Order: sequence, then C-alpha cells, then structure tokens
Amino acid sequence: MSAISVFDRLTALPDLNGVTGRTIRSVFPRPALIQLDGRRPEPVFIAVMQHGDETVGLDVLKRLKAWMESHPLPRTLWVFVGNVEAAEAGVRRLSADTDFNRLWAGGTTPLHAMAETIKAELAAARPFAAIDFHNNTGANPHYTLVHGLGPEDRHLASLFSPNAILTLTPPAMMSLAMRPLCPSVTAECGQARDAQGGEAGFDFLMAVLHLDHWHSEEDRALRLYEITGRVEVAPDVEISFEAGTDADLELPANLEKWNFFERPAGSVFARLPNGRCPLSVIDETGRDLTDRFLTIEGDRVVLKRDVTPVMLTTSVRAIRDDCLCYLMEKPEARS
Ligand SMILES: [Zn+2]
Repeated sequence: MSAISVFDRLTALPDLNGVTGRTIRSVFPRPALIQLDGRRPEPVFIAVMQHGDETVGLDVLKRLKAWMESHPLPRTLWVFVGNVEAAEAGVRRLSADTDFNRLWAGGTTPLHAMAETIKAELAAARPFAAIDFHNNTGANPHYTLVHGLGPEDRHLASLFSPNAILTLTPPAMMSLAMRPLCPSVTAECGQARDAQGGEAGFDFLMAVLHLDHWHSEEDRALRLYEITGRVEVAPDVEISFEAGTDADLELPANLEKWNFFERPAGSVFARLPNGRCPLSVIDETGRDLTDRFLTIEGDRVVLKRDVTPVMLTTSVRAIRDDCLCYLMEKPEARS
C-alpha cells in the first residue's frame, strides 16, 4: 500500500514562543515526527498532543527548546506531535476513529499507516525509552500508566511519580504498543490548566535523557495499582454535586479529592435521592461487576470493598462521554 503520508518530518524544534494548542498549526500544520540528534544514539521517544486539548506536551516542548539553547542533547530524542487538528479545535479528538491514542496496534486508515511507519522506524533505531504525555480531565496527582513489572518499567515510572497504574489494555494505546520495543509509559500530568504538569513532565524527560542505563533500584518506591473496575453512569441521569437536590445521582462537590486515596469498604460513595441506582461497574471486557463493588443502603451507595478511585471528575460532560471514574486495587490484593 502506498500510504499518502499524513505527517511531516523535521530535524529541529520550531520557535514555539506564544504558541498555544489552538494555534499549534502555525508551527505544526500536520502531525510531525521531529528527530533531534544527541550524544547517545538510541533514542528516547516522546509523544505530545495525541489528545488535542491535553497541552502539557506542548509545554514540555517549550521548556525543552529553551534548555537546548545552552545544552547539547545527551541522547537522541524523537518527538511525535499528534492531533494538531483537534488541538486547533480545543478538543480531545475530532471523531471516535481519530483518537490518536488508539492508532498503534494496526489498522487500515492513513493515520494507522503513519503509526505503523513511526513504530517500525523506532524499532530499527533501538529506542531507550518511550513517554506519552497526557493531561487528566479531573484533578489527579501525577501518575504513570505502566505495562510491565520488570525493573526497567519500575525504574522509568519511578522517575516521574510514586503513583503508577499497571494496565495491559487497550492494545492500540501508544505506550502499550511501544512496550515490546523499550520501557514505555504514559505520563499523566494533571490538568492542562496546571503549569506544574509541564514542569514535572520536563523534569521527567530530563531524567530519562540523562540516564545511561536501567537499574533495578527504583528512585522512589512505587505505589502500584491495577484498574479492576470502571464506574459508568446510566445515560440521561441527572447528576448533582450539591447536597439536598432531587437529582438522580448526588456526588460530593470535592469528589476529585478522592483520586488516589483509598476508600475503605463501608464508606459512602454516592446518594440516590430518587432511590434508583444509575451506577454500574464493569471490567475491561464489559462484564458487570457492580455487585462486587457496590451495595445500596437506604438512599446511599456504599462500597463493598477497599478501593482507590482514579480519574474521578466533576465534569458532567466527561462523565457522560467517558465514565465517572475507575476503581483500582493493589495487584496482590486482587482476588
Ligand atoms: Zn489523553
């Protein structure tokens, strides 16, 4: 197949002064692969803006550009700039089939061909590490998604945050698809409006670029979790974040503060002013696990087991488009 190339190739970072997600096409009119030579040849690969409204990666690139004015790169760096059209529109993706973080396990579209080309070239270059930079919708501490429990996986993840989630789905997400090539993580850098995300992302990139080899000591002890359930809200349900309304589902206003904090069995998760429970918990295969995690006591939804929620959001739109949150458990605690 003679793929019409849908991405550009660059060998230097353009001037990013004043560039925002919305204006990113003034410097990157299309997705781009930027190959920057450094002292050690095996590249670090990073991806930015795979989701158009997750601008942390652009911030990382700006900091990198400034740093490179006075420092040579200690290691070759490849940068993939992803969904610039969605960035221009200020949205995560323009359509369900152009989610850039679902392109990396084969497929038939020109975007899939782009992903395959980049993956094959990266494999030939013997990459050292891969990092995909993202933001969260709700307030979460920084964490990585890791795809193995080997010393390299743990070392890489620990350079960013003590919080890590082990996940082996979906196969088409970039960091998982890159894992056969090198240690690979998704770095979740908090909310896009929080400038600390760019600083933490840049520090992480610096640490990895300066690393000579992987070792078996983690830089900080990881708190490693596995996602065991996804909490969905039935469509057309009225959701409220205030006490005393007659919405179908009442959640606490400070819900996002629960992210990465364990909620013990027996604690209240939500109120049901109308008595009917619109929450369901499913696993990655779609199996219904609601009875395993939740029980109804009067007008309250109560947790049946110790869980640590993540990606809880008070954005009703995000809840409707995606889900309320994920529930995590320690891998060893899973029964
Ligand atoms: Zn994302």
